Amino acid sequence: MPLEPITITRREPGPQDVQIDIVYCGICHSDIHQVRSEWAGTLYPCVPGHEIVGRVSTVGAHVNKHKVGDLVGIGCIVDSCQHCEECGDGLENYCDGMVGTYNFPTPDAPGHTLGGYAQQIVVDERYVLQIRHPESQLAAVAPLLCAGITTYSPLRHWDARPGKKIGVVGIGGLGHMGIKLAHAMGAHVVAFTTSEAKRDAAIVLGANEVVVSNNAEEMSAHAKSFDLILNTVAAPHDINALLALLKRDGTMVLVGAPATPHPSPNVFNLISKRRSLAGSMIGGIPETQEMLDFCAKHGIVADIEMIRADEINEAYERMLKGDVKYRFVMDARSLD
Ligand code: NAP
Ligand code: ZN
Repeated sequence: MPLEPITITRREPGPQDVQIDIVYCGICHSDIHQVRSEWAGTLYPCVPGHEIVGRVSTVGAHVNKHKVGDLVGIGCIVDSCQHCEECGDGLENYCDGMVGTYNFPTPDAPGHTLGGYAQQIVVDERYVLQIRHPESQLAAVAPLLCAGITTYSPLRHWDARPGKKIGVVGIGGLGHMGIKLAHAMGAHVVAFTTSEAKRDAAIVLGANEVVVSNNAEEMSAHAKSFDLILNTVAAPHDINALLALLKRDGTMVLVGAPATPHPSPNVFNLISKRRSLAGSMIGGIPETQEMLDFCAKHGIVADIEMIRADEINEAYERMLKGDVKYRFVMDARSLD
């Protein structure tokens, strides 16, 4: 089912709300899963997009974090319960009441949230991030709001730093950010790809080594050696071959969210080296701001290909073939 233009209405900004003129929105593989209802429960009309950057156009009477004209970002979260343990810890991404930027219930029309493939959005100021990169980099900052935080958060949680050997599997939107961030944190980074054509490009992104994952010899050269493997692959695949590359007490964290399950992990692959298989979902609001500031300080942005709104269906087809270096970003001003 192709995407097509529709007219939507945002709520009037309330006292705590910020209204944003969207300039760019990144195209995440989650948008494709959602639009195509590969995950259960897509609500239509569906307006995807959770890598949003733009400029504040209106602020409510009680807003004090942002002012008109600020460059800001919205990621995957636009609300949460604000009183559970997770919200108290700044981990709104794990709040049971988290409201995602699209496809979540809301009192606003049409009853579920509508995302960033749009010209404007209205969001509670608590979920609006400040962008401190130069304005000239704004388009390439957009993917940080999902691909950036989704890879930054597990790298921080599992303590990426010099002396650690970290694998990043799948060099797409998330994976290419994972390589850049793990490199900036000082780890020894090994990129895993199914595409021979990405071998050289992975080194340019910051990988120290590259493994083409269907080459058994290249894989076994890294047996029992990784502290952490960050797996961003958007499709089911053999995770046992990767678990075998973890050293004692190593962890593989799954961030890719394929529509159908991976083949089961072999228990002996876990118990024989006290290995862990984990998952991680985006990141909380304070950590998202920390990630944006880390990237501004280290000059990190995504590698992007810009598209107009009317090129979105073609962009989805190209993403499904792994044919994007490495993130499409839509110019929201082409939505007129
Ligand atoms: P993407 O840009 O399409 O990249 C996915 C990469 O996975 C591809 O570039 C490819 O890398 C590899 N891949 C794809 N199909 C494959 C297959 N059949 N076998 C092996 N490798 C394959 O996608 P993305 O935007 O980075 O998103 C990746 C996944 O993360 C999606 O499932 C998305 O929904 C999920 N996600 C999760 C979170 C979270 O919070 N956990 C947040 C955002 C996205 P190579 O060509 O290098 O092999
Ligand atoms: Zn995303």
